[in-house]
Amino acid sequence: MSAEMGIYEELGVAPLINACGTVTRLSGGMMAPEVSEAMRQASEASVDMMALQAAACRVIRAATGAPAGIVTSGASAAVLLGAAACIAGLDPVRINALPDVADGRREFIVVRSQRNMYDRALLVAGGRIVEIGIPDRISGPGVRDAAAWEIAAAITKNTAGIYYLAEARSKPSLRAVAEVAHEHSLPVLVDAAGQLPPACNLRRFIDEGADLVCFSGGKAIGGPQASGILAGRADLVASALVQMLDLDVFDSFFAPPEEFAALRQMRGLPHHGIGRSCKVGKEEIAGLCVALKRFAAADPAARRAAWQARLQAIVAVSGRSDMVITSGPIPVLSLDVGSPDAADRLARRLLAGNPAIACGLGRLDEGLVTINPTAMTDAQAMLVGARLKESQ
Ligand SMILES: *Cc1c(COP(=O)(O)O)cnc(C)c1O
Repeated sequence: MSAEMGIYEELGVAPLINACGTVTRLSGGMMAPEVSEAMRQASEASVDMMALQAAACRVIRAATGAPAGIVTSGASAAVLLGAAACIAGLDPVRINALPDVADGRREFIVVRSQRNMYDRALLVAGGRIVEIGIPDRISGPGVRDAAAWEIAAAITKNTAGIYYLAEARSKPSLRAVAEVAHEHSLPVLVDAAGQLPPACNLRRFIDEGADLVCFSGGKAIGGPQASGILAGRADLVASALVQMLDLDVFDSFFAPPEEFAALRQMRGLPHHGIGRSCKVGKEEIAGLCVALKRFAAADPAARRAAWQARLQAIVAVSGRSDMVITSGPIPVLSLDVGSPDAADRLARRLLAGNPAIACGLGRLDEGLVTINPTAMTDAQAMLVGARLKESQ
């Protein structure tokens, strides 16, 4: 690779302007130079991975208030590893058996209105989903959703845990779900992948009773695209870690650090397990640690103001009057172009330009094209404004 040629030019892949947010198919967001630098430095030496995860555990503990945490290869991987931990605990026989434990204690109770395509990570780990509740409020003819007593009624000897999707509209409340789960000594596994910002949510789900919580590192935290966090109860986090690591060593060489002291209770050393296919690299661990510290330390109001200013610049440069900035943890610009067809045409025209601009397509059927400020630079925002001006 020549010095003046960037890697994408070298590979013949044209960078685009990502106005869609930190979505996976558009490669997530961009990392701060400090995060890239941490990854570069991490790549230049070998370390003991358990010691590196113990260091990450300390960073995650400080940021989330959870007793323990590890870096995973994404929030989906965190759900998979968390499910494996709920099913197998610290029993090496169960860990080795996954995804096919001998007894039936592998069920996760899931509220029907919280079902989503990421929940199949539970199945990949060997879990089974038991749906409960009639979400009348979602289907329309009613106002109610599942209640905590319905979760209690579904618990059997085969229940391994309760899965909870944290979204603004999720019902019942996490507190109510955790109360029922804990009465039955069952863990609650929370998928909170997309719940940052606000940064206070780093602590919120643990405070509300989650035993394990999963975050994406490649979304608002600003970490490597393929990183995530699993935080929570120390024994469950240790189980998750041991199912991801390479354990091809003799027992006498296995010396877990204090952060994962729960592993010392294991009656034997399992082989590398179900989590091996979501292994995380030292570069991602180092990058996530730096990104998480920066995210937790930053002023939320300043972060939001910078996004807001970026969207206001787009409005100003475009000179258009058909745009509204909507509020929420992440401000979003929506262009009301009048009809689904017109919205479709505008989105395609922006995508066909050079550089391509990828806008949010989720509301095309309402005649809206949306612009999310989190995965673009201020300079790119000016370009988006100029292209929107041309497209009038
Ligand atoms: C984004 C998302 C995921 C996946 O996160 P990755 O870090 O990309 O694995 C899982 N669950 C929910 C609810 C999400 O929004």
